[in-house]
Amino acid sequence: MKVQVYKKGGFELVTKELNRRKAIRERCLNCLNWSPKAVAQCFANKCQLYPYRSGQGKQDAAARAKAIRGYCLDFCCVGQPYEVQKCVSRYCPLFAYRHYKTDRSVECTQDAEKGHIRGYEATAMGDR
Ligand code: SF4
Ligand code: SF4
Repeated sequence: MKVQVYKKGGFELVTKELNRRKAIRERCLNCLNWSPKAVAQCFANKCQLYPYRSGQGKQDAAARAKAIRGYCLDFCCVGQPYEVQKCVSRYCPLFAYRHYKTDRSVECTQDAEKGHIRGYEATAMGDR
C-alpha cells in the first residue's frame, strides 16, 4: 500500500509502497537515523521488531503482524490499546499496520519512491 512517511532527516515526506515487511524496515531506519549499518548492528534484541529489522529472509506473517502490534502497544503506548487505536502519527511507517487489520485511511495515490530498497542493499554493502 502506498503511504507517506518521513524522508531521511525527518523533515520532508515521501511516498513509499510499504507492506508489513517493508514498514518494519522503514521504522527501524527511522529509529536509528536512517543508518542501515546501525540497524544491522542494533543491540536491542528485546525489541519486538528486532527479528524483522533487515527486511530480508523468510518471515512468519502472523508472528510479524503480532510483533508490530506488540511494538505499538508495549514500546510506544505503554500497554494502552486505546492509545494505539487513537494514534495520530499517520506518517509512522507502522501506522497502517498497528492493528491486525490494515488501516487504509492513510493510503495515497502518488508515485512511490523506492528509497528503502536502497536501504536493503546498503545493509549488505555497508553504510553509504
Ligand atoms: S529492532 Fe527496535 S530498537 Fe532496533 S532498530 Fe528496529 S525499532 Fe529500533
Ligand atoms: S503507529 Fe503509532 S503507536 Fe505504532 S509505533 Fe507508530 S506512532 Fe507508535
